[in-house]
Amino acid sequence: MLKRNPRIANLSSGYLFPEISKRRAAWAKEHPSAKIISLGIGNTTEPLTPHIVEGLQGEVARLGTKEGYSGYGDETGLTELRAKIASVLYKGIVKPEEVYVSDGAKCDIGRIQYLFGSNVSVAVQDPAYPVYVDGSVMIGAAGPARADGTGYEGITYMPCTAANGFFPDLSAIPQNSLVYFCSPNNPTGAVATKAQLAELVSAVRAKGSILVFDSAYSAFIRDPSLPLSIFEIPGARECAIEVSSFSKPIGFTGVRLGWSIVPAELRFEDGTPVGKDWTRLMTTIFNGASNVAQKGGLASLDEKGLAETRELTDYYLENARVIRSALSGDNFKKAGVEIFGGDNAPYVWARFPGRKSWDVFDLLLNSCQVVCTPGSGFGPAGESFIRFSSFGHRADVIEACERLSKLSLS
Ligand code: PLP
Repeated sequence: MLKRNPRIANLSSGYLFPEISKRRAAWAKEHPSAKIISLGIGNTTEPLTPHIVEGLQGEVARLGTKEGYSGYGDETGLTELRAKIASVLYKGIVKPEEVYVSDGAKCDIGRIQYLFGSNVSVAVQDPAYPVYVDGSVMIGAAGPARADGTGYEGITYMPCTAANGFFPDLSAIPQNSLVYFCSPNNPTGAVATKAQLAELVSAVRAKGSILVFDSAYSAFIRDPSLPLSIFEIPGARECAIEVSSFSKPIGFTGVRLGWSIVPAELRFEDGTPVGKDWTRLMTTIFNGASNVAQKGGLASLDEKGLAETRELTDYYLENARVIRSALSGDNFKKAGVEIFGGDNAPYVWARFPGRKSWDVFDLLLNSCQVVCTPGSGFGPAGESFIRFSSFGHRADVIEACERLSKLSLS
């Protein structure tokens, strides 16, 4: 019999969302007639938009013809799409050959972990999107879990709290490390300013480290002063990789399409361009994003597609406003609940002083039949917080908020 991979065995418990599903399913089994509404998982709910559907359908039709059929494509993506991402989303601050199209940002994060391997220390915002930490444990760059429940060995957790405006103390960044940073942030909804990102770039460079900047939610930024990409910051080309996604802006969570940017200037200690190894890795263990998905992505980047993207992201931002408004009610105010995020991001982050995240999760499930995400599942500094996701049908969000307004927190 084969031995279990000890690195995977190092993961302390199930992934956050399966645990939520387990509790939800157990409650539903006991209360079969109850209507549970989820403000929990960051999965999109609204249908694909017409012009983008046309892009997908056009490619399906083409593949059904003798003349139009094509098989495997370039592993790094359609030339046309790489050029469009560079010109439309990055306004030319990155070059098309620095854009690597993929099946999504999460998959790219896993491959980036494979690229750097086990001999790298890791720093993350705390709380953070779970893949940064769990993937690092799986590859052997971190783990096992510390006995005192404060996270994994080998991971530097940089607390992002209300007190520091959800921007961490960067002096904690270890020398020669891989630093994950997400803005707009999942789960806190915080968006870093240009000045903050300039500080981040300077700290990462001073430590000889590499930044993995996750901009999966940049399409939700409405404040024009906030940066959409790390490459708006001078010096980032020498120290950063950006991962991003079509999932949330155009509802491609199931279609699957994302990209990474690896700038030509980014190098390893021995002078090898990181892009050289990234190309080698992508062409070896990845076989290219779906051609159908890529044509859908392409449609999203022309005038009609951009208008649809704006409308869709506006829809979720309005949901976030509705959630914020419910959480500002007297019942929450009296309990001292503080709310953050949700204006340039699809997540609202709420602090319930004196309560544990999972206790609030159970309270909202039992009393309101509303599923949320316990902040502690995103890292030690998420304790006492709850993440509310704006991905949901408007009617459901309104109904969930009406129930929340009646919740007794005394
Ligand atoms: N990055 C962050 C911060 C996310 O929250 C998510 C999904 O929830 C992803 C990446 C995943 O993106 P994709 O669907 O492109 O894999």
